[in-house]
Amino acid sequence: MTLFPGSIKGRLFLWYSTFTALLLVFLGIIGFYEVRRLTFAAVDQSLHSKMQLATGLMHAEHEEGEEGNTGGLEVEIAELVTGEYAIPRSGHYYKVMVEGWETIYSPSLVDPKFNLETGSLEFHDKEQQEWTYISRGPNNEPLRVLRHDHRLLGKAITVIIAEDISLPLKRIESFKIALLFVVPLAILSTSLIGMWIINRSLQPLRRFCFKISRISSTNLSERMGSDMDVQELRVLATAFNRMLERLQKAFDAESRLISHASHELKTPISVIKGHCDVLLQQERSAEEYQEALNSINSVVTSMSRLINDMLSVARLDSGILTPADFKEVQVRNCIDDALKMIRPMAERRDISITSSIPEEIRVMGDRSLLTEAILNILSNAVKYNKDKGIVDISAWEKEGRIQISIRDTGMGISADEKDKIFERFYRSSAALLDEGTGLGLSISKGIIEAHRGEIRVESNPGAGSRFILSLPAPHRSA
Ligand code: ADP
Repeated sequence: MTLFPGSIKGRLFLWYSTFTALLLVFLGIIGFYEVRRLTFAAVDQSLHSKMQLATGLMHAEHEEGEEGNTGGLEVEIAELVTGEYAIPRSGHYYKVMVEGWETIYSPSLVDPKFNLETGSLEFHDKEQQEWTYISRGPNNEPLRVLRHDHRLLGKAITVIIAEDISLPLKRIESFKIALLFVVPLAILSTSLIGMWIINRSLQPLRRFCFKISRISSTNLSERMGSDMDVQELRVLATAFNRMLERLQKAFDAESRLISHASHELKTPISVIKGHCDVLLQQERSAEEYQEALNSINSVVTSMSRLINDMLSVARLDSGILTPADFKEVQVRNCIDDALKMIRPMAERRDISITSSIPEEIRVMGDRSLLTEAILNILSNAVKYNKDKGIVDISAWEKEGRIQISIRDTGMGISADEKDKIFERFYRSSAALLDEGTGLGLSISKGIIEAHRGEIRVESNPGAGSRFILSLPAPHRSA
């Protein structure tokens, strides 16, 4: 099982909804604590102003009264006994303690001994000698309690002021309940909106896929429109169109090969069929059978040559060659192998072949394929040579590349044919009488290019041709 669903939509949705859910929960928590802080800050502010009023009254009395006398204190603080402080258990209380003894207290407290500091200590301001508690009142109501210690006339004075916070707590609680509804609802609605946005954003991709799915081997010429409204898809469409172009070329080449092949095979097959029909019509003499079988034999030989060449083409097209399979190959060995096969043909026409290849000339490649590439060129050099002609083979290294030259003294190649001779099935009109398939040079070119090499031809029509193969030299460690 993977962490993310297999679709882009699923992944986007998961990322988006997880992120928004976490963000909303985080904002909810922050919001809740901020509201709580502000509510208590308002209560604390009111407690502080009352504390200031109480301590201010005590100091005023001290300045007016005589030293050591705290009797007037009660009178002055009693000024505070108005409104809620006069009503028993009203939720608003104060208490003044001198040297730890309850001296003055609001009538609302009823019992002067009632301890207002039983709850939890919220914070303590050491400098100001202030303590803030959340506690419980005589009515069991929640209280915010502020205690302030100071010295007056050499005596330790403690002033405690408390306020009922049931209402602010209720407000905080209602806000919390609202959040518990609002946050999940917000998560749900943002997720739905996210889903809708993702769906809409992926619509062009769906249209793109639909268009692609309609392209098959029968309509390979179709292209993805450049009018795509999404930039990323325009890039994809361009890449896809390039791939379609390559595919179309490969398909065209393949169907050309098949139609050429069937055309080339049709003639020899009808020749064989013709001979068989004639032989089967009536009893023939031994010489007639012999003659017909010889013709059939030579036709079959040229058919098998064609089939072998086509197999080579198909192997090359399927990309059998990868540089990973290459080994260091001695060029002289490839040429010697090719010469072994070509010499009898050359001797029949008195053509002399000279070859001077230094032993150290090597390339990275496949020995049998390189031999095949050289053999095709060599056999042409003999085939299209004049009787008693010359074929000269040489090889050298130049600027990190191995050059192999095969020169003949044959009929040569006209300037406008120089490129065409490497095309599949191309045969010059002058060569049509000779045996051949028109595939030899295209196979050689395919093999050399698969070895990251090049093949070119120089020719002097009527005087001869020279084929030059250029291949990368192997890297040598110093
Ligand atoms: P094939 O030899 O079977 O016809 P190739 O692909 O080997 O096919 O050669 C294609 C054509 O190139 C030949 O038909 C011929 O006209 C021309 N050609 C190739 N090599 C030579 C050469 N050495 N001299 C003259 N023409 C050549």
